[in-house]
Amino acid sequence: MHLFQYRNGELYAEGVPLRVLAKKYGTPLYVYSQGTLERHIKSYHTAFKGYPHIICFAVKANSNIAVLNLLGKNGAGADVVSGGELYRALKAGIPAKRIVYAGVGKTGDEIRYALKSKILMFNIESGDELAEINRIAGRMRLKAPIALRINPDIDPLTHPYISTGLKKYKFGIPMEEALECFKLAHGMKNIEVVGIHKHIGSQITEVTPFVDALRKILKLLDELTAHGLTIRYLDMGGGLGIPYNNEPTAQPRELAKQVLPLLKGRDLTLVVEPGRSITGNAGILLAKVLYLKKGPGKEFVIVDAGMNDLMRPSLYDAYHEVLPVKRSRRGKVVSDVVGPICESGDFIAKGRPLQKLQQGDLISVMSAGAYCFTMSSNYNARPKPAEVMVKGRRHFLIRQRETLSDLTRGETIPK
Ligand SMILES: *Cc1c(COP(=O)(O)O)cnc(C)c1O
Repeated sequence: MHLFQYRNGELYAEGVPLRVLAKKYGTPLYVYSQGTLERHIKSYHTAFKGYPHIICFAVKANSNIAVLNLLGKNGAGADVVSGGELYRALKAGIPAKRIVYAGVGKTGDEIRYALKSKILMFNIESGDELAEINRIAGRMRLKAPIALRINPDIDPLTHPYISTGLKKYKFGIPMEEALECFKLAHGMKNIEVVGIHKHIGSQITEVTPFVDALRKILKLLDELTAHGLTIRYLDMGGGLGIPYNNEPTAQPRELAKQVLPLLKGRDLTLVVEPGRSITGNAGILLAKVLYLKKGPGKEFVIVDAGMNDLMRPSLYDAYHEVLPVKRSRRGKVVSDVVGPICESGDFIAKGRPLQKLQQGDLISVMSAGAYCFTMSSNYNARPKPAEVMVKGRRHFLIRQRETLSDLTRGETIPK
């Protein structure tokens, strides 16, 4: 579901024509729909309302503080994977008690920062990390609340780059070592074991892998209970997919419908860490056609947004729908939508039958609200695009377009 719709042949973000936003803020431009974001976060709360839960939005999907603030106001917490993301979440007003912190490579400084901030829990990925957190917490005379991230060895049937729950990947503690690791953690002076965590991957469109992984985790939980270890938080991770190309995808309510019966009668708080399914379809990237060029059996549509602005097609061969902002009757041509970056891998769409475009036309790259701006870079010394939030007929600049002087900020030439 999203609120980017055509009206009289023109594409709107809620009540605002994208054309108006391009004129006011320039292109390339990220545009988010507040109404869509609100609906998505609410759909999670509604789906899990029968059970104590915290929805920790995965900040790596979209870390703009206006987005985080909006989600926080709607009850969300945050799942962070770095000190920088923790800083953003706190700055956006998300309460520390709703923040969980995952990631295989937390540094000492990041651990101290998170301990000082009093986050809900660290999701620990290795025995070494556990020992380091215990040591640092000891120095600070604190007890660190932790969950162990368990790798349930489940194939989520997604792209290998966004799959995490198989043994061969770097994430989590293997199932066979879990019990020992929990016992070890339990015996540590400056560790308080509060949870168990798993996250099996991203863009998962069916509920089955979640249920399979959860069953394994619950079996382990029962073993822990038998050993006198009680757990308060069950963190099932994120990973629910979105339609990029009208493909059927499970909704939060379908996920909850199969997950909640498994938790019945257990005295737990469920943590869910959705990222993509909250912001993915709530954002688009608006770009302008610079030039057209005939290629072999196709047309190159050269736009002012490149792989530095939106990396997913180049990185994962990901599909993003491309729509003309103004519909015409010019007919369709097979097109490659490419950017200005000096790399053959710089493309947004390949071999698409697209409405014949002209210089100066605007296009909208759909489903660009997750893992798009957050992955953007300054490659080819390109300033990062601006970001705008639309609410009804109003629009707000939530991140300024970078300037040329931003590009060299912090650099010096030695004397
Ligand atoms: C990336 C990530 C998420 C979010 O995944 P989505 O597919 O965007 O829902 C949640 N938890 C952890 C630990 C992650 O690394």
